Amino acid sequence: MKRRSVKASGKGENVQGHAPSRAGDRGEIEVTRRSFLIMGGVLLGLLPLMQRAFAAGLTRRTMTGPEKIRVFSVAGGEYVTVDRVIRSDTEWQRTLTAEQHRVLREKGTERAYTGRYWNHYGKGTYRCAGCGNDLFSSAAKFDSKTGWPSFWEPVAAQNVATEDDYSLFGIRRVEVLCSRCGGHLGHVFEDGPPPTGLRYCINSAALVFVPRSAPDGTGRSGSLTPPG
Ligand code: FE
Repeated sequence: MKRRSVKASGKGENVQGHAPSRAGDRGEIEVTRRSFLIMGGVLLGLLPLMQRAFAAGLTRRTMTGPEKIRVFSVAGGEYVTVDRVIRSDTEWQRTLTAEQHRVLREKGTERAYTGRYWNHYGKGTYRCAGCGNDLFSSAAKFDSKTGWPSFWEPVAAQNVATEDDYSLFGIRRVEVLCSRCGGHLGHVFEDGPPPTGLRYCINSAALVFVPRSAPDGTGRSGSLTPPG
């Protein structure tokens, strides 16, 4: 009787006229099915929170280490020592646009063919939109036909960091981050053109392009000054 009372609370009530045992079976199936649906809904609801927690964990790991790092300055043509840029999320929200924050700080991905730079081929340097770190040269940019700006190498290995990323269905990808502020830039794949065979698939929202002709595009100062 106890089992029947559980079944009666579900859609098993609509099976009047059926043998009690069959109605009971249906009730059990219905309760089980509903439980799965509820569990599935709860898990789906938690997924964004889990992804954010995972993303925050990656960011924290990336930002551990010395407070000063060596990076290559395109403007200076040499390696320089700079402070890491570490800010609270409130500060990032104040200094970035909503889209820049979604990509750089929440590891979002812009839709293909929607960013500013996927088909942009000016001569100059692409810097981190979060901290101004020089990231990619137009000389290493190529048309990957993917709808995202693509490069075969960064301006220097030290200017970016990489992390294993299993956030998409558990598939291993290699995430690319700014080495100075830990901002998420995109991913790197091993299907790029010569000379490296790599494809740095980067979100436009993570970048700010500085033309070679701009005062600080080749200038002697300000290239690594964090915006905001
Ligand atoms: Fe940065």
